[in-house]
Amino acid sequence: MPGLLHAKRVSPNVLKLAVPTPTLPPFGETNTYVVCDGGRAVVIDCGAETPEAAADVLAELQRLGIQSVAAYVATHHHVDHTRGLGLLSASMPAPIYIHPLDHAAARQHVRDGTVDLRVAPTAIQLSGVEIRLLHCPGHTRGHLHVWVLPDNALVVGDHLAGTGSVWIGPPDGHMGDYYASLKRVEELAPEIALPGHGDAISDPAQASRALLERRLLRERQIVDALADGPLTVDELVDIVYRGRELGPALEFAKRTIFAHLEHLSEQGSVGRSTVAPDLRTRYHRILEEESLT
Ligand SMILES: [Zn+2]
Repeated sequence: MPGLLHAKRVSPNVLKLAVPTPTLPPFGETNTYVVCDGGRAVVIDCGAETPEAAADVLAELQRLGIQSVAAYVATHHHVDHTRGLGLLSASMPAPIYIHPLDHAAARQHVRDGTVDLRVAPTAIQLSGVEIRLLHCPGHTRGHLHVWVLPDNALVVGDHLAGTGSVWIGPPDGHMGDYYASLKRVEELAPEIALPGHGDAISDPAQASRALLERRLLRERQIVDALADGPLTVDELVDIVYRGRELGPALEFAKRTIFAHLEHLSEQGSVGRSTVAPDLRTRYHRILEEESLT
């Protein structure tokens, strides 16, 4: 039934549509951002799953007076950010821009073979509105931040969330890259950050610092837990999230702990081995003197 979505203005040239998607609690929606200049728009992310759900988005674009789309942009390949882009472009044709490192995976989600999936440029000019696409990996290898210059608004995909934290991990997340991308947000000092899930973030620099601190605290917890001997990822999840009912988030907690362990091993403070008879990978702490030799 069209007419269910209501756009909310989040900055002078940007509107937000919260589109229902099967995403992790506490969110049941993924944000679509519409950068407009008059009747022309650039649409960022859309997770609408069915032609009916995409029709709701199109009905709202129409109600807003948008006559044409100059480009679609995906912050990253995950299905809750990309599935709807193919469906929208069937009705309002325009190229879909995505970073080359996320192309192959995105193609699985944007199923319609006729869509025009292209390599993301570094900038898009929408009449008077300049938009820059910044490669900020971490959540995925090709993750993009979209900077709407006149508004000093930064669409941050799944690198920040309206509330809580985000998951980083396999198959294509990288914790070290994620830290660098959080620092980049701080350096860019946007006035507002627009996350893939939840409300706009009014102090992006502070939010990025807080998330970085949270991740570094987790790394310290992991290293501390390993002081008593080698542990598996599952054992570490039990220790780090002790007493918390994770439900469907358990899988993503595991991935995040794994990404932390990979990062710690890249830094030389954690090692891994599969010598135990059960052949499960266990991680151990590498003392500083050891890592220097
Ligand atoms: Zn994602």
